[in-house]
Amino acid sequence: MKLMEDRIRKDGIIENGDVLKVGSFLNQQIDVDFIRTCGQEFYRLFGGEQSGVTKILTVEASGIGLACLCAIPFGVPVVFAKKSKSNNISGEVYTAPVYSFTHGTTYTVMIPKSLLSPGDRVLFIDDFLARGAALEGLADICHAAGATVVGAGIFVEKTYQGGGEALRKRGIRVESLARIRSMSPEEGVQFC
Ligand code: 5GP
Repeated sequence: MKLMEDRIRKDGIIENGDVLKVGSFLNQQIDVDFIRTCGQEFYRLFGGEQSGVTKILTVEASGIGLACLCAIPFGVPVVFAKKSKSNNISGEVYTAPVYSFTHGTTYTVMIPKSLLSPGDRVLFIDDFLARGAALEGLADICHAAGATVVGAGIFVEKTYQGGGEALRKRGIRVESLARIRSMSPEEGVQFC
């Protein structure tokens, strides 16, 4: 999506070589009109009766606002996985461990069992796809719930970190609005 690539060129900041800061339009400050346009693109890709999306799933915190704006054309609820440092969670919840490369720690994502059922057709929405651990965790939870994963709508995929490839190999349809093949403070961002 040219609009997303242009926006990253204009407002993205490369930090430590591997982290793209997009705090002025995607994280922290959210450009609502821009994200709504992105949501329409996800609807073009994943909407309609054939996909039959019943729920949009994301991870707290940065994914929530984006997922809500993208859910408008779909007219379906957004469920977000909560993050916890403990692996020792009881009660009626699905859990999956996720290793965060940006923070260097493992956390647990959890979703109440009451919010996912075997009839659900789930679309993941997330800001970044890097090594894919977060979405692998959500996919494991959907599998445990018997829900169907329709696909993943990603704002920015860093293809060189391999997460997209791993999810696609798993049979998940991944659609990314911008696909970065390399980036560095010297060379800037190179798109696929
Ligand atoms: P993954 O699980 O795919 O390795 O990482 C996905 C999560 O890490 C995203 O939800 C996002 O919060 C964070 N992340 C990964 N790479 C970047 C990046 O370059 N910039 C920002 N702002 N977040 C990132």
